[in-house]
Amino acid sequence: MSDDEMMHGFATRAIHAGQQFDPTTGAVIPPLYLTSTFVQRSIGDLRGGYEYARGGNPTRDALQTQLASLEGAGFALSFASGLAAEDALLRAVLRPGDHVLMGNDVYGGTHRLVRRIFEPWGVGLTTLELSDLAAARDALESLRPRVLWLETPSNPLMKITDITALAELAHGVGALVVVDNTFATPFLQQPLVLGADVVVHSTTKYLGGHSDVLGGAVVTNDAELAEQVQFLQFAAGAVSSPMDAWLTTRGIKTLAVRMRQHSANAHAIAESIVGHSAVARVYYPGLPTHPGHELAARQMRLFGGMLSLELAGGAAAARAFAESLRVFSLAESLGGVESLVNYPSEMTHASVRGTDLEVSDAIIRLSVGIEEADDLVADVRQALDAL
Ligand code: PLP
Repeated sequence: MSDDEMMHGFATRAIHAGQQFDPTTGAVIPPLYLTSTFVQRSIGDLRGGYEYARGGNPTRDALQTQLASLEGAGFALSFASGLAAEDALLRAVLRPGDHVLMGNDVYGGTHRLVRRIFEPWGVGLTTLELSDLAAARDALESLRPRVLWLETPSNPLMKITDITALAELAHGVGALVVVDNTFATPFLQQPLVLGADVVVHSTTKYLGGHSDVLGGAVVTNDAELAEQVQFLQFAAGAVSSPMDAWLTTRGIKTLAVRMRQHSANAHAIAESIVGHSAVARVYYPGLPTHPGHELAARQMRLFGGMLSLELAGGAAAARAFAESLRVFSLAESLGGVESLVNYPSEMTHASVRGTDLEVSDAIIRLSVGIEEADDLVADVRQALDAL
């Protein structure tokens, strides 16, 4: 994009960044380059720098330009999944003897990646309640971690952490601040602008937006780090395929309108179930009673489409509720146009059972889709009323 285009608003950049029309035919949508290799004019004389698709493919480049623009970043690298992106970033940054300080409510797979794959290679891991800034300061000073990893809103308890304050504390001890921005998306929150060094995404979720593609991304303004991650993308090879990159790009174009609707629908559900006798607690940062509400209002544009609830009747009620929803489908994942219900303790967070990230078996997580709000509210209420 030209400098002029960089000045455009979010929704405009989501549609146009990296999406120049095809100069040979005028096709409005850049072609999907389903090719693994590229013809050279003579040995080493490449067209547009393209040689072999693990190293680079125009469809992946278009997605990477789009992602960088949305996060207000200089560089974005896309991968075959969110965890592949996280793995590449951590391998670029960590060495044996380094330490990772992580929020105690991050995606279970992120915790599993560090605990089961990096710890055996000599990396230390500590998890902590990061909304407690005094505890975070103490831990940063005593552990001197290489990486501070946070997720806000967190998964599944929707805790909100102060990115700016934590980045300042972490930078004081030389730690790299990584924010998993999967739940918020760059439409709702821009961690690099707030002081973080790196953003990671599972683009499988809201960015793709249609539950039809896996992907991940590392986004940063740090040119040296971007080069190291790009080397791992090429040398280890967990790249996004052209088809997956194209689908993700297509999804991103409607991110702004989708996130507005996801947020409005989740807000409507949260408000409609507060005080229901079957509900012990609602975890939604848009509710004024949420402990992170004011911070979320400052840090985020809207409050997002994810909410969790604790059932007063415990595990049995949670299971019955999850299985009696009709519009919501019982499935892992989140961020698609369709509403999903997840039982974290047995599904997304089964891998953290027995750790301090363990999720109560009374908790249900909803990924609120963009169906008609009234239908979603009615569905949730009929399932609660039946308990
Ligand atoms: N980060 C968050 C917040 C997630 O919810 C997930 C997946 O659920 C991931 C990362 C991992 O992404 P993927 O499943 O694309 O590997």
